[in-house]
Amino acid sequence: MTASFWDMMKRPGTSSKAHSTASSSSAKIQKMAPGLRSDSPRSRSIDAQSTSTEATTSSSQSQPDDYRQTLSDVVVVGAGPAGLMLAYVPSSPPAWHIFAGRRADGNGSDNLVRFGIKTRLIDDRPDRTSTGRADGIQPKTIETLRQMRLAEPLLRKGVRVYDIAFWTSTALQSLHRTAREIHYPPVVDLLDPYILLVHQGMVEKIFQDDLKERGVHVQRNTAFVEFEHTPQKVRPLQITCKDAVDHTRRTYGARYLVGCDGAHSQVRRCLPDARPIGSSRDAIWGVLDGVLETDFPDIWSKVVVHSEELGSILMIPRERNMTRLYIELKSDTKESASREELTREYVMKRAQEIMLPYVLNWRSVDWFGRYQVGQRVANRFTDEERKVFIAGDASHTHSPKAAQGMNTSMHDTFNLAWKLNFAVRGLAKPSLLATYEQERKKIAEDLVNFDYEHANAFAAGDPDALAANFAKNVAFISGYGVNYEYNVLNIPNKGHGIGALKPGYLLPPAKVTRFVDSNPVDIQTDIPALGQFRIYFFCRDVYAAKPFLDAVCVAHQTMSSYVGRVTLAGNASYTIQPPLAAPHDQFVCPERYTPVSGIFTYALVTDMPRHEFELDDLPVTLRESRWTVYLDDCPDKDTRGQKCIDKWLDGLAENEVVVLNVRPDGYVGSHRRWDNGRRESGVAAVKWLDEYYDQFLCDL
Ligand SMILES: Cc1cc2nc3c(=O)[nH]c(=O)nc-3n(C[C@H](O)[C@H](O)[C@H](O)COP(=O)(O)OP(=O)(O)OC[C@H]3O[C@@H](n4cnc5c(N)ncnc54)[C@H](O)[C@@H]3O)c2cc1C
Repeated sequence: MTASFWDMMKRPGTSSKAHSTASSSSAKIQKMAPGLRSDSPRSRSIDAQSTSTEATTSSSQSQPDDYRQTLSDVVVVGAGPAGLMLAYVPSSPPAWHIFAGRRADGNGSDNLVRFGIKTRLIDDRPDRTSTGRADGIQPKTIETLRQMRLAEPLLRKGVRVYDIAFWTSTALQSLHRTAREIHYPPVVDLLDPYILLVHQGMVEKIFQDDLKERGVHVQRNTAFVEFEHTPQKVRPLQITCKDAVDHTRRTYGARYLVGCDGAHSQVRRCLPDARPIGSSRDAIWGVLDGVLETDFPDIWSKVVVHSEELGSILMIPRERNMTRLYIELKSDTKESASREELTREYVMKRAQEIMLPYVLNWRSVDWFGRYQVGQRVANRFTDEERKVFIAGDASHTHSPKAAQGMNTSMHDTFNLAWKLNFAVRGLAKPSLLATYEQERKKIAEDLVNFDYEHANAFAAGDPDALAANFAKNVAFISGYGVNYEYNVLNIPNKGHGIGALKPGYLLPPAKVTRFVDSNPVDIQTDIPALGQFRIYFFCRDVYAAKPFLDAVCVAHQTMSSYVGRVTLAGNASYTIQPPLAAPHDQFVCPERYTPVSGIFTYALVTDMPRHEFELDDLPVTLRESRWTVYLDDCPDKDTRGQKCIDKWLDGLAENEVVVLNVRPDGYVGSHRRWDNGRRESGVAAVKWLDEYYDQFLCDL
């Protein structure tokens, strides 16, 4: 980046630090140009010339403002979990061996964020969340972070909760344990069957640090005010923001606007006819994070305590030896009078009373807050005409006790990010972006319905009702049960029943061996989230399936197939506007997973013994995709002791071939079974694949 809009925005006291950090990290930036490996010397020399993102990246010199620098493809309002996930989601470096499209000349746009989309991420706060708010990460989110190669710092620092205990006190019986359950019983097939407790600020930090490594910074102290739609302009959205410090106003041009600006979203207010629908409950809850001194025996489990007389407590162990307490302040006692009277001391005293006869004291308190539960879903998440979206708490709110808000918010934007990436690149039909609201509004409604029952069971203090509500919804709570209805992306199988794979559902966990290095891997997360579709072929005998595989792979390398033309268009787009890499990408090596196409990763799964074939026996597309050829030979390592082919497909006959389309967010799109590996079947598969992708992707 040459000019420095950021310098114009920076304020005394914060600017020089931000400036120097950005400068040093921008020196490390690498641009993932086509065909360049992330560790290649040429990529480094390109990197030295260019940094990422407008406005949010500093340069070493202060230079005059420039109109161009106020333009972006996407403006994201709000750097909470939803906004950071959106800004983060990467896309793949382009394929190009086969489609030798335009090579980058090393002078790509200066204003790229990591996935090649010019994104401005603004937030009205001076810094990320320091204390309080969300702390529970659900199994599906852990898996998503694993796939993004971001989970490790959180797994290292977080606390894992595997069980849940129920305690009750009545007029006749003092506080006693009534049950202890496994938090995620094996009815749900989970790779990580626990809740990971880490503070929301730590989650925000992993994204922020990753962005920083790519030279991207959140533009802080900047509040979104309003937008104007000017369809005659290339970037039709004129977005007005106000500097929180000096109150100056500035207008940015963008093609898309996403409001991740929390429950009181200003972006939502600016959407015609958009409003949150739902209601608030009377009860107020106090929340305390701190280090306890107590003789209560279950402090390291998740605990639900119910006192008939005084209300409920939810107790959750936290990182750094802390415990979080959610304390109900019953509406029929003093608490209903005035929120202000509900001081920290008052809430602590109430907790001590509920926990009697156990002693409860605080060695330190990190955070205290009060909240009233509101369950609301916005009536619209999208303004298709103006290309404005809302996500996260801006589009839905509910009780925090089921640890869903941050998780769902991140999955909203995990769903939206790859669709926006295709749209900005001109590779998406309008039907693709339309699926965002179809899919995520349904999830928000499911969540509020679950939360309503969950909050009722809590308020009633009925441990049986609470346990029953939990058991009924355990798959949904974990994130694995979150599923989408049929639409252009999720296509039902006409008469081709198949194991655990269901369109609109996530891939169940399965273990396989990677052919190229014999590593046992979790197949559902092994291919990093780079914004690409995955096309898996399953067969038992590679040689019997060879004519089929040849027919598909050859068609996909040429303009004769729709998929081939999409690849050509996608590779050209990535050549012009490549993603940015961070230094740590040298370890992930994203280019391994998109060797032939920036839009599709091809993978093969077979249970043929390793010594019976070589990579050279495969069609060139699969040969090039050597990191995604898998052997289905390690059921002993699976969560259910099953082979992938058995678990996912309910078995496969000797000559059968299955093709599976997996969306960039890990959801099953469609799949089909052919009863033989002949060429004619392969030709039919080409047609079937073309029809699928033609529904929502654009070719040349
Ligand atoms: C006590 C408590 C406990 C919780 N526990 C959990 C839990 O365990 N698990 C869980 O999943 N969820 C939990 N949640 C919910 C979770 O915190 C939220 O759902 C989550 O933060 C939503 O993320 P978001 O990015 O949508 O919004 P937010 O985190 O609210 O982020 C919105 C961002 O937008 C910024 N912003 C707002 N207006 C503007 C504007 N006009 N211009 C620019 N920027 C703006 C804000 O400053 C903020 O940084 C809890 C919430 C509370 C209050």
